[in-house]
Amino acid sequence: MKLISETIINKFNNLIVQSNKIVILTHYNPDGDAMGSSLALFHYLIKKGKQPVLVTPNDYPTFLHWLPGNDKVFVYKRQNGTVLNAIKDADLIFTLDFNNLDRTEGMETFVKDSNAKKVLIDHHPEPGNYADLVISETYYSSTAELVFHIIESMGDIEIIDETIAECIYTGIMTDTGSFNYNSSRSYTYYAVSKLLEKGINKDKIHDNIYDNYSEDRMRLLGYCLNQKMEVLLEYNTAFISLSKKELKDFNFVPGDTEGFVNYPLSIKGIKFSAFFIEKDKQVKISFRSKGKFATNNFSEKHFNGGGHKNASGGSSDLSLDETVLRFKELIKNYKKSLNEI
Ligand code: 5GP
Ligand code: MN
Repeated sequence: MKLISETIINKFNNLIVQSNKIVILTHYNPDGDAMGSSLALFHYLIKKGKQPVLVTPNDYPTFLHWLPGNDKVFVYKRQNGTVLNAIKDADLIFTLDFNNLDRTEGMETFVKDSNAKKVLIDHHPEPGNYADLVISETYYSSTAELVFHIIESMGDIEIIDETIAECIYTGIMTDTGSFNYNSSRSYTYYAVSKLLEKGINKDKIHDNIYDNYSEDRMRLLGYCLNQKMEVLLEYNTAFISLSKKELKDFNFVPGDTEGFVNYPLSIKGIKFSAFFIEKDKQVKISFRSKGKFATNNFSEKHFNGGGHKNASGGSSDLSLDETVLRFKELIKNYKKSLNEI
């Protein structure tokens, strides 16, 4: 199954062959797909005889630290000298799992200014125009799945070993919520079947990611659902907000609130869910929907954000309370579309 066109594959191959200093970069607050896809490409390039440098803008949750190659990742926030040198010297930069360089939060100008050729590999809509080669398709479940199809279209399926397969599977599993959403296309399962043939232990991967939480995190989830969730049935909407104080009370560590935004969608009739979390300088927001309501358009228009139709994010410079009030006012304008779906 060769899903990626020959023209793209030829360009992809030429860029790799011609390059000696390769950087792989993913987005701020990396998730399972960001790390899974980047590490899969990282291990693949090593097997192609390259020595890539893998960079993340900031740290990622500990439940992703078991991924093979975790100890090789450079984190810009902590190792900015090394990272900036790698970017400056690079002759090829892969950007994975994001469509716009502002998703690298603070690294944008360095990447733009680098003379390196750039390859964008992503599954979000509206890819940016900064790259020399754009491999962007929204119908793949995840960037990790896209990486699988690129490798296969390269004729390199034999190169995929258990390590690469584990990374790819992690990206597919996390970006589909364990094959719940974004996973209705047969070629996703074709990829998974090939990964299983490589010897991955899917139960272990699931356990590493989803059954590895702290007691504090479970209690924070309980608190959110019991005391913090507001249901606005008139708008088929529900949301949760958390202040810095509340996070501190539950000994919050990054990653603890991953997935919280999905819970309100399990309520009958709820089609739109939002999760607000107070950070040092702004409020970070996650949006999820079921069906037609385009959360990415909503987020782009009102909260400086974007993402996929049914899963997006944004931010607000107002206080937490003001942000929530603004959200409650805004959705009044969407009553019709929120009731249509
Ligand atoms: P999450 O809610 O899990 O942080 O993000 C869900 C989706 O929205 C991801 O696909 C992510 O790339 C996108 N996203 C999250 N935050 C932002 C943001 O601030 N800006 C943009 N453009 N996309 C975001
Ligand atoms: Mn993704």
